[in-house]
Amino acid sequence: MAVINCPGCKKKISDKAKSCNHCNLDLSELDSDQLANLNRVSVINKTQRLMNFSFIAMLFFCGGFLFMFRDNIAPGTWQHNLAMASTFIGFFMYIIIRAMLLLTKRKAS
Ligand SMILES: [Zn+2]
Repeated sequence: MAVINCPGCKKKISDKAKSCNHCNLDLSELDSDQLANLNRVSVINKTQRLMNFSFIAMLFFCGGFLFMFRDNIAPGTWQHNLAMASTFIGFFMYIIIRAMLLLTKRKAS
């Protein structure tokens, strides 16, 4: 008996189980086509989630960047530091998320 990941909810189940005991997905009626389909859907969902995160990262980056040059905020004040931190965090988040997106797409194809 081996442990596999349920194609529906990705939780660990026995490969002998006829249905997933987490999401009740009927495994006995799944053929390879449907399995491929479920995998594709999960990749799309993951990609969508990463896209949302990259959007948030962009907001951090742009927001921090704009804030830094707005209202003549002097360097050294906490507002300026906060804006700078937001810009850097947004920038690095964005890079990391783009890399994760690339990896997800490469694994899927
Ligand atoms: Zn499941």
